[in-house]
Amino acid sequence: MKIESIERIWVDLPLKEVPWRNMVREIPHWSLFELCKVTLSNGVVGVGETMPYYTWGEVTDEAVERVNGQHPASVMWDDSLGAGLQMALFDAVAKSLDAPVWALLGQKVRSFAHIGWWAIDMPVEDWICECTEAIEQGYTTFKTKARPWFDLEDQVARLSAAVPNHFKLDMDFNDFGLDPAIARPLCKRLERFEKVAIWESPIAQEDVEGNRTLRHHLSVPIAHHIDRPAFETQIRRDICDGFVMEGGISNALGRGRTCAEFNKPFWLQWVGSNLAATFCLHIQAALSHARWPAIHCNHMYADQFVDEPWVVSNGLSAIPDKPGIGVTVNWDTVEKYRIEAKDKPYPYPGLLLRLDWPSGTKSWFTHAQQLWDAFSSGDLPAFVTGVNLTRVDDDGSADWSRLYKQACVSPVHEP
Ligand SMILES: [Mg+2]
Repeated sequence: MKIESIERIWVDLPLKEVPWRNMVREIPHWSLFELCKVTLSNGVVGVGETMPYYTWGEVTDEAVERVNGQHPASVMWDDSLGAGLQMALFDAVAKSLDAPVWALLGQKVRSFAHIGWWAIDMPVEDWICECTEAIEQGYTTFKTKARPWFDLEDQVARLSAAVPNHFKLDMDFNDFGLDPAIARPLCKRLERFEKVAIWESPIAQEDVEGNRTLRHHLSVPIAHHIDRPAFETQIRRDICDGFVMEGGISNALGRGRTCAEFNKPFWLQWVGSNLAATFCLHIQAALSHARWPAIHCNHMYADQFVDEPWVVSNGLSAIPDKPGIGVTVNWDTVEKYRIEAKDKPYPYPGLLLRLDWPSGTKSWFTHAQQLWDAFSSGDLPAFVTGVNLTRVDDDGSADWSRLYKQACVSPVHEP
């Protein structure tokens, strides 16, 4: 058995309206996928996917050349192949063995995997829309972004009041809490909302002592992205309660088993369409401590190119037992959304964002990276009560054009 051919196909999969109108500020490129179609000499076809502008590992021409003609099982454990190629090889090898992917990864430890809903930062009305849909679809947890350009306390209060008691919230700060002096009192105040279940990266992850201090003052568990600082430091210094796991299969299995040794739960974060989400279920099947809800974001897409429906019930999704990943790629749908490879569409043109401060100051931006830079450096006041970000549509006025032009260069602040 050998790899006979590798075809790569780009698709642009539309996002649903609420995610799109908010992700356009920061990650409009999440609609782009590169499918990897691997055909083996036995006629079996395996398919994987990469999000070219988000992935933990892109598939390069060099990687494709390196494995072409090789036995797929001899190369599939190499994480440097990139997300889509590695996924396709596991799919093809498992199909050739008439076995599900999880059977290649280890002992199956569960039949149902924990799954969470995800959304980016957005006005609380949009968060409530997202959670309403999540609950209708059988989800019981919601991971989202804690951002200093919205009034976080007001958002959490209103969201908490809108969801049932069994529904839990994970607030990801991406380090925007900066240091314990900001994050500790803020998180302590927010902990009065009992639906908050996880703080993710509340301050700089590299601040070992700061994170240990937070763990001692807060009761809600703290999750960190794995490997920042070094995994060994994270474990030895016990700086968090659990992890966000990304990366290739060898990395996930190695790290995942170490987490089990140290009794650290984690969630797998494998973002993509229903194809990547279903693939991740197999990894969740093989790792005992993958018991925090996995983040796939597959629910954001308005359409899918695999035929099987994605089913979540009581926050759980069944591990597939069919050969390979266990899904059928619909090549007509792939054709419908097929595009030529393209550059990252960022910043998204024509976007003007206004930040209203309770002091009366107004700040203007054209994309979220400007907000990231200004707030993560501590240049702007963090988590101010009453602050609010809105999009300002082009009304054809000279004022809009002036602000847009200026803010394209750098943020504008008007007292
Ligand atoms: Mg995160």
